[in-house]
Amino acid sequence: AKTAPASPTAAADPVTVRVDLGDRSYDILIGSGLLDRAETWAGLPRASTALIVTNTTVAPLYAERVQAALQPHYPRVRVLALPDGEAHKDAATLERIYDELLGQACDRKTVLFALGGGVVGDMTGFAAACYMRGVPFVQVPTTLLAQVDSSVGGKTAINHPMGKNMIGAFYQPQRVICDLDTLDTLPIRELSAGLAEVIKYGPIADPEFLSWIEAHIDALMARDKVALAHAVRRSCEIKAAVVGSDEREGGVRAILNFGHTFGHAIEAGLGYGEWLHGEGVGCGMVMAAELSVRLGLMPAAFRERLEALCVRAGLPVRGPALGAARYLELMRVDKKAEGGEIRFVVIDRLGSARMQGAPDTMVTGVLDACC
Ligand code: NAD
Ligand code: MG
Repeated sequence: AKTAPASPTAAADPVTVRVDLGDRSYDILIGSGLLDRAETWAGLPRASTALIVTNTTVAPLYAERVQAALQPHYPRVRVLALPDGEAHKDAATLERIYDELLGQACDRKTVLFALGGGVVGDMTGFAAACYMRGVPFVQVPTTLLAQVDSSVGGKTAINHPMGKNMIGAFYQPQRVICDLDTLDTLPIRELSAGLAEVIKYGPIADPEFLSWIEAHIDALMARDKVALAHAVRRSCEIKAAVVGSDEREGGVRAILNFGHTFGHAIEAGLGYGEWLHGEGVGCGMVMAAELSVRLGLMPAAFRERLEALCVRAGLPVRGPALGAARYLELMRVDKKAEGGEIRFVVIDRLGSARMQGAPDTMVTGVLDACC
């Protein structure tokens, strides 16, 4: 079993990224050694109880340290370790959070701390949105994917047997705490999955960032802290800017789903858990790039460039052979589909994305070329 590394003695000052949402604004803290710094936990809403919601994998690694850090601020600090995995991001597991809160007579000021990856973050956020019509919560993401994507922006949800993330709410955290040291214990496959979401931000928003990732992909794969700090920071800045201008996805926020329409089809088509979300996104970005090329928006070299980067990030770039008809069927139930018409996020120039439909024959051609 892996054990958590000792925190470094001389951690650099954390970087702060602000998410500007009026009275729902909050800070994202990014740095090494954050879990053990007193300042990390200062200034949060006061309460008689703090509940750390985590899972059985993350709890033995980090829960004790977070509990110790919170004890000076809250008279009672409890830990709830849920079963691990996307399969448990469901109503039954959500109910266990409410059971704990009600069983411990937690009041409406109770602060929830989501310690873990996107599954724990999404589910804890949704529990916080609903418990007594809303209690404050703090995101403490411990996967790269959660640090660069899911913990920021206030989308919370659980899955329904008929669809992923179908039951949820927009509910912003009080703070996001990204301790880069927690990524040391992350399985390499999960690191790669997180890198897919990092890579995503380049084509949709920042060509320079895309070039930076290409120059630093080996350092990122080796978990170099300076490289990770920049990757998490730039990703959060871009996500914060997009969310700040379109909190509830009336428009531009949808571009964050670059690669996700194809990716979700892969995830669902193989059965959830076979491919990781980020793996589907990596391969899905290559497909969406190929579609952008076929729509005449981008040169073929763009697809090749993105594919080469995904390969270096350890991501799959060939889709499973589900058959084009099955892909199309799966993509028509995507949340972004409107009246059965699939809406793809395509790149129209480097650093700029838009939503667009495409003829089934063209999409079939993309799938034939990419599977
Ligand atoms: P995850 O939460 O399942 O975590 C991946 C695995 O890593 C789990 O087994 C977890 O226990 C383990 N883990 C977590 N931190 C660890 C650490 N520091 N060391 C060792 N192991 C660790 O998966 P994820 O990729 O973090 O998140 C995926 C989820 O996020 C999906 O449910 C997806 O729908 C959701 N998501 C939400 C948003 C959003 O905007 N809310 C955005 C993207 C994804
Ligand atoms: Mg995603």
